[in-house]
Amino acid sequence: MRKEYESGRIAGIRESIFTTMSRLAFEYKAINLGQGFPDFNGPEWLINEVLNSMKKGHNQYAPSPGIFSLRKAIAQVEKKYYDLNWNPETEITITAGATEALFCTVQAFIQPGDEVIIFEPYYDAYIADILLAGGKPITITLHKPDFKFFAEDLFKVITPAVKMIIINTPHNPSGKIFNYEELDIISKIAIENELLVVSDEVYEFMTFDDKQHIPIATLNGMRDRTITISSAGKTFGMTGWKIGFVCANEKLTNAIRRVHQWTTFAVNTPMQHAVAYGFSNLEDYLPEFRKIYQHKRDLIIKELRSTLFKPIIPYGSYFIMVEIPDGIFFDDYTCAVELVKTYGIATIPPSVFYSNSNEGKTMLRLCFAKQDETIIEGIDRLRRLRFDKND
Ligand code: PMP
Ligand code: GLN
Repeated sequence: MRKEYESGRIAGIRESIFTTMSRLAFEYKAINLGQGFPDFNGPEWLINEVLNSMKKGHNQYAPSPGIFSLRKAIAQVEKKYYDLNWNPETEITITAGATEALFCTVQAFIQPGDEVIIFEPYYDAYIADILLAGGKPITITLHKPDFKFFAEDLFKVITPAVKMIIINTPHNPSGKIFNYEELDIISKIAIENELLVVSDEVYEFMTFDDKQHIPIATLNGMRDRTITISSAGKTFGMTGWKIGFVCANEKLTNAIRRVHQWTTFAVNTPMQHAVAYGFSNLEDYLPEFRKIYQHKRDLIIKELRSTLFKPIIPYGSYFIMVEIPDGIFFDDYTCAVELVKTYGIATIPPSVFYSNSNEGKTMLRLCFAKQDETIIEGIDRLRRLRFDKND
């Protein structure tokens, strides 16, 4: 028997916190405000479209870059909402969720010795993708409570080894939306140092209080060095459908497609047809979608105000960070474990999304893509902490 079969490449890869907390939620029959997914269905008319497309015979492999009608519908959305022109033939690719898009992108451009700048708290897939490609993540902290970064921190880490910056706006887990000034700083650095920028915009349509999402590809000089990634799973509230997409210029798209070809080859066909229909009707669908999430964000803030957990207001995504009350728990992980075991509420301890700063240890992440009753009951369980600890 060989002593070790695992490749060294996966040495730094652990089980994701979402899997851990969802398993604990199940085990302790807890309300799950941890892993990010809605506990209610997306639109019925979209579900019917999957059935229709199956009945019409759309059940065999799709073309590797995705069915053309979906790529065309995405091109129209990008034009209408952001005035971005992507050629659906050569510049848009359909992937198995944003997760596959991120994986293929990092594999396509990062090799051993390359450094990739990411912002913490980060979406944990970025670290795994970079390590699997043999690259090195370099982390810049977004400081609470408003999750701003210091431009000097960014300037300091730029060396010839840096090849890529990954940003995520609207941001998971903080709910921050990168404003124009911040994107401008990142753009200028990217242009000056000839860096690629990967922009993860899966929560692009989930914004609150009239805050605007700005794709970094729209900034001067950025279109041809940006790889924009998004996901129909978020926009239509069906995370299990795993339909994501990448927009990038032809040369970059070519490289990404060569990896995509050997990861999934093609993404499931009937859902692509349904999502094409969905994106073609986005304008009618979005107002209600946005109203629902604005309501849920306001509801969770209102409920949290009468707990010991102080909310940090999010302006996008379906996540909210809360401050853990002082002096009760050792850290966020201890707090999250006690909450799920004793109080029956699952959350995410965000310190796993940090490499440099300890700020994550003082917060928890909650997901509010849940039915109102689930939010109310979940937060009621948090509220009980006050009574227990004061008794
Ligand atoms: N990026 C971010 C920031 C996410 O939060 C998620 C999933 N919640 C993904 C990417 C992955 O998206 P998908 O489910 O489409 O693979
Ligand atoms: N992105 C989701 C979250 O942040 C989880 C997705 C997953 O479990 N892979 O909760």
